[in-house]
Amino acid sequence: VLQVCLPLNALGFAYREVKDAWVNVERLFVLLREKPEIAQKPDQPALKIQAGEVVFDHVYFHYVPERPILFDISFRIPAGKTLAVVGGSGSGKSTLARLLLRFYDPIQGRILVDGQDIASVRVDSVRQVIGVVPQDTILFNESIAYNIGYGRNGATLEDIHNVARAAHIHEFIESLPEKYDTLVGERGVKLSGGERQRIAVARAMLKNPPILIFDEATSALDSSSENAIQRELNRLSTNRTTLIIAHRLSTVVGADEIMVLERGRIVERGTHAELLSLRGMYAQLWLLQQRQEKEKVAAEAQNL
Ligand code: ADP
Ligand code: MG
Repeated sequence: VLQVCLPLNALGFAYREVKDAWVNVERLFVLLREKPEIAQKPDQPALKIQAGEVVFDHVYFHYVPERPILFDISFRIPAGKTLAVVGGSGSGKSTLARLLLRFYDPIQGRILVDGQDIASVRVDSVRQVIGVVPQDTILFNESIAYNIGYGRNGATLEDIHNVARAAHIHEFIESLPEKYDTLVGERGVKLSGGERQRIAVARAMLKNPPILIFDEATSALDSSSENAIQRELNRLSTNRTTLIIAHRLSTVVGADEIMVLERGRIVERGTHAELLSLRGMYAQLWLLQQRQEKEKVAAEAQNL
């Protein structure tokens, strides 16, 4: 019995520790995986959130000095607007999100939220105002209701059902033997990547934060689910400051600004139309992906 309980207790311990310090589940996992390397000074004031403007001001970053990752990154996401970052795998996109969540501090430069350097305010106060739909959501060994409801203290079952509907996961949950009480995670029902992603979307909706990060938020879905969820993400991001990180350009067409990142440098920026007329890297990627999307849709149709 003791042996069986040990891992559970270990997780419970880590969970309780973390729950006090950090507000959201996805962060726990990013935390456990990423191992934060920030120096938190005592007595830092809390972030005073206003409209939710995000600024990167000449940010440089490396995980290890031998291998610089980001070079002179500057951008501003006006409150309520959407910035999309595209670029190849390993170009540094997710690192931008980790820096905004302050899992690391820039080596040079500053990151400001509503004019306040996030390195000079309490880290939990920064994370409180940011909702994340991560690349790969790992769930707690708890009920589905719990996993969604974690987004907000005091959420009612009705709140949870509403966001689950909006995230197109409600019907699926209702089809499970124990519905919202179904245990998920390693010791419960195994969910697909797409299902986990929808739970993360529902959780972010429930949290209702002024700032959102989607990290390739619909990558695990087939085309038709992706389109459905994309509409919900668009709705969720309306009037919220949003950083979308995407491989798939079809999801970023409507962004207020798109940045193309290549090996840690911004190589193109503008709206979708501006970038197409540049006929550069974005335009090339766009043509390539249009073709791939068509092939994917055709392949899915054949498998029906
Ligand atoms: P993207 O999201 O664009 O695919 P990332 O921002 O995740 O890229 O990673 C950028 C680069 O940083 C990659 O080369 C990756 O291998 C490296 N990297 C990511 N996390 C770490 C880490 N914790 N330690 C060292 N290198 C890392
Ligand atoms: Mg990434």
